[in-house]
Amino acid sequence: MKITENFKKKNPISFEIFPPKGELSIDALRGTLDGLKALSPDFISVTFSAGGTGNSNKTVELAGFIKNECGIEAMAHLTCVHSRADEIESIIESLREKKIENILALRGDIITGRESAGFKYAKDLIAYLRGKDFCIGAACYPEGHVDCDSLEDDARYMREKQDAGAGFFISQLFFDNELFYRFLDRAHKAGINKPIVPGIMPMLAKNQIERMIYMCGASMPSAIVRLLHKYEDKPEDLRRAGIEYAAGQVSDLLNNQDCGVHIYTMNKPDIAKRILEMTAQ
Ligand code: FAD
Repeated sequence: MKITENFKKKNPISFEIFPPKGELSIDALRGTLDGLKALSPDFISVTFSAGGTGNSNKTVELAGFIKNECGIEAMAHLTCVHSRADEIESIIESLREKKIENILALRGDIITGRESAGFKYAKDLIAYLRGKDFCIGAACYPEGHVDCDSLEDDARYMREKQDAGAGFFISQLFFDNELFYRFLDRAHKAGINKPIVPGIMPMLAKNQIERMIYMCGASMPSAIVRLLHKYEDKPEDLRRAGIEYAAGQVSDLLNNQDCGVHIYTMNKPDIAKRILEMTAQ
């Protein structure tokens, strides 16, 4: 099923997972998938390593497993900046074989010293995929992409992705819902009329959150800084507070917009479960 169908109902819930690292096979994720399946997500998306490095070949296999063995709709992420058209074509063919209908089309982060191989921006991949009968999603950035100088340019580039064929957007993580609501206004003013799904990642540990903030440029509201100080030497309490904070964000988002929420699960179904339980209270 094409994921855009999900947006005909109010507030679909989806999860992101990543393929097993190193030599591990996707069997290593059976417990994770069982846990996520019990939460009845509308779809699960699977990340892809930029530049065809690492575990990217497992993305197609895992997305296929989610769709065909677990019976959950799946979306494969696909990055393009360091891939040639023939490499992308071969991945598309494998996705078709597994009956995957949904692709999150991304540029990917640029690997220093490696040339771009043909697709400069995500919009180029989206245009390439258009007409190939996939449902195409794209990334968006409530606080602007780290390499983009202005929020207006960022909204304009988002519009280019929509014009190229993106049928929905999933956002980068953020910790301040007000920033997301302001971003929605900007996006709508720029002519975005496709669903924009907020992406939420719970704070589980200080180093995890510092790494994510460095990588994606998300700002840290004072409420998060206070939690980090308060529970500096109490990792278990910090984790609990981080889950509670994320559940508060999810509740507020489900009350104030219709596009549901995409939870970056970090392959931890117990965390997603707790967030959803707290949200339902
Ligand atoms: P683009 O939309 O191409 O934007 C890249 C940069 O170019 C931005 O700074 C943008 O402002 C700028 N730009 C765009 N168009 C133009 C233009 N016409 N002229 C000038 N500048 C322009 N990475 C992975 O490696 N694997 C994953 O699985 C993955 N999943 C992700 C899922 C989500 C929901 C999100 C939000 C991000 C994900 N990423 C993933 C990270 C993503 O690959 C990086 O953020 C990457 O740097 C940008 O990808 P993009 O598709 O947004 O690129």
